[in-house]
Amino acid sequence: MSRVNTVLGPVPAEELGVVAVHEHVGYGMPGSELDTRWWKTPEQRYEETVPKLRTFHEYGGGTFVDATGICNGRDVDYYKSLSAKTGVHIVACTGFVGGDTALPFFARASVDYLFRQFVHEITVGIAGTGARAGVIKVGVSRGGRMTDLDKRIYRAAARAALSTGVPILTHLAIDAENAVDIFEQEGLPLDRVLFGHVDDGVNAGKTRDTWIIEQGGRLGFDTFGYETELEDPPFWARPRKERLDHFLRFVKGGHADKVLASADANCSPLGWPGVKGHTVNYIFEVLIPDLRDNGVDEATITKLFVDNPADFLTIRS
Ligand SMILES: [Zn+2]
Repeated sequence: MSRVNTVLGPVPAEELGVVAVHEHVGYGMPGSELDTRWWKTPEQRYEETVPKLRTFHEYGGGTFVDATGICNGRDVDYYKSLSAKTGVHIVACTGFVGGDTALPFFARASVDYLFRQFVHEITVGIAGTGARAGVIKVGVSRGGRMTDLDKRIYRAAARAALSTGVPILTHLAIDAENAVDIFEQEGLPLDRVLFGHVDDGVNAGKTRDTWIIEQGGRLGFDTFGYETELEDPPFWARPRKERLDHFLRFVKGGHADKVLASADANCSPLGWPGVKGHTVNYIFEVLIPDLRDNGVDEATITKLFVDNPADFLTIRS
């Protein structure tokens, strides 16, 4: 029996449909919720987010994975109402975007403390919502090397993944040797890990993508749409064709089973405005047509957006 935790309860993996595996309902740095600039009424927030998710659903989108960890604006009651309003399954995550976005309370915590926090959010629920996390977020802090705190979070995540069967999604795939080391020491099969942001303009050149696949990991090409062609591109932007070609090398080079794609868009600005016009719907409006134009067949498109994420998100017993 395959099962995935969504904010409205467990669903069979076969029901996920097309999955956007790395997205954000609203993302901000810790503390941004205290800044008057980001205060919004519930109506304003719905107005920003609901149409994007409804369009996603109309295009055939089934599941939205919110990769916003603890301390970055995660709001699970809000996700539950969005899911109920739009019919899109929403998967919430436990964990942290990186050690550098963990508030001091967690930054001082031991591996065991973090492990128990993650397991509670996966098996009991997040805060008082009753919604269980379906994935664990970890990441590399700014600077390009894993800090001691990053390593504690990765180790706690590996233990929580093993004990609950929920997979891990990483922010950045640089310094992967240290990450793989920790996962191997803990005995976590690497197909339970999606190494994210392998495609972004800053890190693509420093990411050992082929090596990660050889170790058994999965690759997340999950910053599709952040293009240098944009009017005001973010610092991690990359030329559209260069990113697409990078992805196609893996899709056509015998690794279609091991790669996933997403748009890492911010639905409702919360401490970070996002990039104007960029939404989760890039997947349907640009990426899938680009794949078809480049000779990727429908069976492969289904594999990339339906089968691979279902296999990755299914809770392993
Ligand atoms: Zn993200």
